Amino acid sequence: MEAVITPASALAVTPGEPASALWERVAEKLKARHGEAVYRSWLRGLECKHIEGGKAVLTAPTRFMREWVAAHYGADIRAALQELRSDILAIDILVRQADAPAAAPCAPSLAVSTSPAADAALLAVPEADLAALAMSAPLDPRCTFEHFVVGKPNELAHAAARRVAESPAVVPGCNPLFLYGGVGLGKTHLMHAIAWHIRAHGGGRRVIYLSAEKFMYQFIKALRSRESLAFKETFRSVDVLMIDDVQFISGKDSTQEEFFHTFNALVDQNKQLVISGDRSPSDLEGIEERVRSRLGWGLVADIHATTYELRLGILHSKIEQMRGIHIPQKVVEFLAHKITSNVRELEGALNRVVAHATLVGRAITIETAQEVLMDLLRAHDKRVTVEDIQKKVAEHYHIKVSDMHSARRSRSVARPRQVAMFLAKRLTTRSLPDIGRRFGGKDHTTVIHAVKKVEELISQDAEFASEVELLERMMRA
Ligand code: ADP
Ligand code: MG
Repeated sequence: MEAVITPASALAVTPGEPASALWERVAEKLKARHGEAVYRSWLRGLECKHIEGGKAVLTAPTRFMREWVAAHYGADIRAALQELRSDILAIDILVRQADAPAAAPCAPSLAVSTSPAADAALLAVPEADLAALAMSAPLDPRCTFEHFVVGKPNELAHAAARRVAESPAVVPGCNPLFLYGGVGLGKTHLMHAIAWHIRAHGGGRRVIYLSAEKFMYQFIKALRSRESLAFKETFRSVDVLMIDDVQFISGKDSTQEEFFHTFNALVDQNKQLVISGDRSPSDLEGIEERVRSRLGWGLVADIHATTYELRLGILHSKIEQMRGIHIPQKVVEFLAHKITSNVRELEGALNRVVAHATLVGRAITIETAQEVLMDLLRAHDKRVTVEDIQKKVAEHYHIKVSDMHSARRSRSVARPRQVAMFLAKRLTTRSLPDIGRRFGGKDHTTVIHAVKKVEELISQDAEFASEVELLERMMRA
């Protein structure tokens, strides 16, 4: 929206520093506190119109922005202003109007202040919006598209999520969008990213994001307090409904029932649904057949286990966000090689290494990383041995364990052997030469070749990818 140009005389600018200059300084503080992404999404659009009678009057470009900013950053904005100008006691956020002076008296005001009178102004916000906002779980400011690193394993899920986020209406063939994959692979991140995007650019489309667990909790609460009608209304009045971790409602019959009806009502009204789960709709256990089949109606996009390249990309992106932290490339590669379970653990490992280095004030090396992550690396190691892997993989492909050690090159034996080497690299902390030795004294370059080959196949062949993933999950279980 265009900024409003109000004649200067109409603004009661406090003598001394103009409101806009003061606001610039406040904006810097907010940016430092909340980070670039939050600032750009929510705070950059604010303007400070004037300061009068202890109150700073700000304007936001849309109604939704005003509510969101007031609810999430209001207290902070007031505090930041107060730090610079102690006479500011409250802030008022108005919606900027294109064709009227910004502070027109008719503009509904949403005040953020400690006085009860100001709190009453909250009532000026349409109730349905507030109800939707209240149902929605908070969104992690770090989980935006900008911060999501795309690679082969999550390419499809990411592209679909973006489509849904950017489309002004329901995306044909993508309703519902069902995202699934193992823990810590980015399902929740993508859902938050969709919600952030729509809230910032969706032109007032109403979004509810919550976990299936919270959905159930809200539903039961509504039943108990005899407010199930209001509950239904809230959920059925949204434009985009996102339910995370749907597997949680397995075995919960009445919640499934309500979910099913909400789902149908929204699809009938052409509203967008985004659902996530830990497995594909058809594999969800304890969920009624009719619910499962509805879940699989639209686009089902799976997020595969990470590849080495993706892990490297994610590490680089996270390190960049840490600003000013230097980690030698060797250490980054070490982490990407060793922490293969999921992105959450990878992040955790990185944070630990950085925290340690900052605390003791020493440079980060592979040795210190190894030391700091000893338990994690050991756990990975302990969980599974090369021998276990060989046994399980041989069983799966109906070959003999001794074939793992042989030099036979026929595809029926060589491919399973490569898969086993790949898994040995991923799931144990053994070095490449060590793995080679355990496969009948092969060279480490053979292992490298196997890992590359399997990664290549995973990225090209979805069926093969899920087969390997299944093997990996079995091994970890
Ligand atoms: P899930 O919901 O699938 O269990 P999350 O979305 O919670 O996983 O992801 C776990 C952590 O890993 C989060 O901190 C998330 O930001 C991060 N993460 C996952 N995938 C990516 C990615 N592709 N790029 C950047 N960060 C990621
Ligand atoms: Mg999640």
